[in-house]
Amino acid sequence: MKKTVSLLVLFILCYSCVDQNKVVETSNPKLVVGIVVDQMRYDYLTRFYNKYGDGGFKRMIAEGFNCKNNHFNYVPTYTGPGHASIYTGTTPKYHGIISNSWYDKEIKESVYCTGDNSVQSIGTSSTSGQMSPYRMKTTTFADENRLFTQMRGKTIGISIKDRGAILPAGHTANAAYWFQGEKEGNWISSSFYMNALPDWVTKFNESGVANSYFKVWNTLYDINTYTESGDDLNTFETVYNGIETAAFPYDLAVLKEKNRNFELLKVTPFGNSIITDFAIAALDGEQLGQDNITDVLAVSYSSTDYVGHYFGVNSKEVEDTYIRLDKDLERLFIALDNKVGVGEYTVFLTSDHGAVNVPSYLQSVKIPSGYINKEGIRKKLDEFLEKTLSASDLIENISNNQVFLNKVKISLLNLNLEDVQDAIVNELIGYEFIDKAYTSTTMNNTSFNNGIELLLQNGFNQKRSGDVLFVYDPAFISYSKTGSTHGSGLNYDTHVPLLFFGKGINHGSTVTKTTIVDIAPTISALLGISFPNGATGKPLIEVLD
Ligand SMILES: [Zn+2]
Repeated sequence: MKKTVSLLVLFILCYSCVDQNKVVETSNPKLVVGIVVDQMRYDYLTRFYNKYGDGGFKRMIAEGFNCKNNHFNYVPTYTGPGHASIYTGTTPKYHGIISNSWYDKEIKESVYCTGDNSVQSIGTSSTSGQMSPYRMKTTTFADENRLFTQMRGKTIGISIKDRGAILPAGHTANAAYWFQGEKEGNWISSSFYMNALPDWVTKFNESGVANSYFKVWNTLYDINTYTESGDDLNTFETVYNGIETAAFPYDLAVLKEKNRNFELLKVTPFGNSIITDFAIAALDGEQLGQDNITDVLAVSYSSTDYVGHYFGVNSKEVEDTYIRLDKDLERLFIALDNKVGVGEYTVFLTSDHGAVNVPSYLQSVKIPSGYINKEGIRKKLDEFLEKTLSASDLIENISNNQVFLNKVKISLLNLNLEDVQDAIVNELIGYEFIDKAYTSTTMNNTSFNNGIELLLQNGFNQKRSGDVLFVYDPAFISYSKTGSTHGSGLNYDTHVPLLFFGKGINHGSTVTKTTIVDIAPTISALLGISFPNGATGKPLIEVLD
């Protein structure tokens, strides 16, 4: 009997071993494709839903899982921190990408999130290739996949923006490629990844594809059917150089020279088409998803952000850009079906931040909103410190809604740092359109559970962030009176789409709140690999099959 039981146990053990191996083998996709749509608000999915075809956004919803209440859980909601947080599964508090650019307290100058003077440009005569992910302190799920597969699973990052390609791909990427505009119009990289562009990239650059997009941009469908956005002619949009109004159609070939050549394409839906062309070429060029070892392709669509900044959330230009992006997504998914295989790959789609409706438009419909004069804040604060503490130059820098104080000067004057921080908070909160202010001491000594305070804390990096943090009134921005921007902890900036589809993904949807840091742990759980080393999010179990 005893022997029978042992045999049975042995059998079960062996069976479960075999079974587990089988599960691991069958559940791993050949390719994970992460898609980030820069500045995509959640409501772009619902507002333009009836205009989308069946093969893009709707295919993801029809076949996959839709997290309808997905939010950023930190501020500031910018591109650099956004991409880092999606792929590392944590917030600036841990990954250290506190903004696109920030004031470096050590070297006392502003640094760019992916800037790296120790590496060289590849494929461009400009300095645009001097980039690497070294300022990001933690790993991405793509890094963990590389470690797990003994570097056999590849990682490729692609975006118009350097930071949109570099941060997702992580520290161990085979390559990240981004688009050099100006007069070049080429895909480029950095010596961090390679010594020369691979042949397929050179071939792509020489093909003239980018140049072919200098054509007339008109609405894809009759503009009169674009009832989901405001009038084409209004006072809330930025106008391209060389014309009088921001109204369709735009002859891009004519506008090219006056709008910095290839930079112009970035501010049109065709920037997204170039990304799609290049991503499809990368499937072949990099042999992605061609064996059973999972590869990662990170694609970030940047033109949606440029178009939003120019024309604003409510514009016909934004609507047309999303209708066209939907077509590009369909094209990408068909290429994946053909080259990797239907059901052999897994895709997620999200955004790096949302955007606010143009405040001048919101004002016209009586919603509280407006514009902040940043220089005015600095001037008033300097005057205040001069008057109350008889001290000048106590403020080294104000950026990303944070005040950086001169610690040397403070101790020379025998002032107490916390007293100075408190005095600034009390002064700032009296200013018009400043809604909240906190000291770094508060951030360090308090554990917040919710609200804007938690978002500030998740975005606060003790080593890199400033001494005082402040928050503008809702829908107040420091920006031009035309176009939209982002950066706040309000729903218009934090609420973004999160869609999954493909291998290992359930069909369904949820309105339960999910956060952006849940994505990387979910993909890690799907792949059965370690979570990114600083991940603070949780796997979304209802998403996984
Ligand atoms: Zn932006």
